[in-house]
Amino acid sequence: MIKIPERISIANLPTKIEKMKKLSKKLGGPDIYIKRDDQTGIEVSGNKIRKLEFTVKEAVDKGCNLLITCGGIQSNHCRATAAIAAKLGLNSCLVLKGNSGTELNGNLFLDKLLGAEIRFITPEDYKDKRMKIMEQIKIELEHKGFKPYIIPEGASNGIGGFGYYKAMEEIIEQEKEMNVHFDRIIVATGSGGTYSGLLLAKKILNYNGDIYGVNVCDDDEYFKNKIYSILYESSEYLNVNLEFSKDEINILDGYVGRGYAISRQEELQFIYELAKLEGIILDPVYTGKAMYGLAEEIKRGSFKECKNVLFVHTGGIFGVFPQKDLFEF
Ligand SMILES: *Cc1c(COP(=O)(O)O)cnc(C)c1O
Repeated sequence: MIKIPERISIANLPTKIEKMKKLSKKLGGPDIYIKRDDQTGIEVSGNKIRKLEFTVKEAVDKGCNLLITCGGIQSNHCRATAAIAAKLGLNSCLVLKGNSGTELNGNLFLDKLLGAEIRFITPEDYKDKRMKIMEQIKIELEHKGFKPYIIPEGASNGIGGFGYYKAMEEIIEQEKEMNVHFDRIIVATGSGGTYSGLLLAKKILNYNGDIYGVNVCDDDEYFKNKIYSILYESSEYLNVNLEFSKDEINILDGYVGRGYAISRQEELQFIYELAKLEGIILDPVYTGKAMYGLAEEIKRGSFKECKNVLFVHTGGIFGVFPQKDLFEF
């Protein structure tokens, strides 16, 4: 029996799996189910809390009292980190890609409400130096008497990945309860930890379905490398010998569109149509692009041999508000 690291229980788990009857019928392909990881909570909502349950447990066990992390200006991960910090009586410092003149809206507004300290850095610094910058902030805050713990982007590292190992266990349990088997599981991929956790569990628990990541930035090769390295980092927490191959990592590349956190009108239109059709709100940065990609692939016939597919709704609802003026009604 494999023993995974311990976690702090914060998220509302297990999350429901619902059938998207109307969308499935409209697309005429497999039956599409959706796992509501957008409902893991309110302040902590989305996929990041599952990863943070493990990461923050490690931080607290080490005696740390301040969480440093980084992300885009509308980062769901940073907001969830600020929320879990407040809940546990820790401090948080968020390093955001953007500038201080940005309107307080969506997740950024919630970061403030939750009491996070916010530091802005340029996109160039974010790309090349974010880890270094967080290390410097750590030293600075240590001098002020804090015990900071650095969480990498998206909590996508070895320990964070276990959040989606646990989600995979849930899915396997729910398949039994619902008497349905998913041929494919589809998830938006931004920093790779969600995908990596699912794949780790697929291997260890012998799950008989394929996992597909729809990348929302970078490309297939970037994510194969990134996910591959997270998989090995996670396996260091386990006393088993696991072998991974990059060929096991399925990335549905082609739906980044205009770039990370930049939307095309067809993506926004898809979010609007889906909200009216199913009463489910996707987000413009991750799930909107990923489900748009899934719908396009079904139309092209790439899911012909599938009977049932599961889309993991990883959250992000607060991200619709800063983009509200771009929607055409
Ligand atoms: C971060 C995020 C993702 C991507 O998950 P990764 O583990 O970073 O690949 C998907 N959807 C939403 C809403 C997110 O905030």
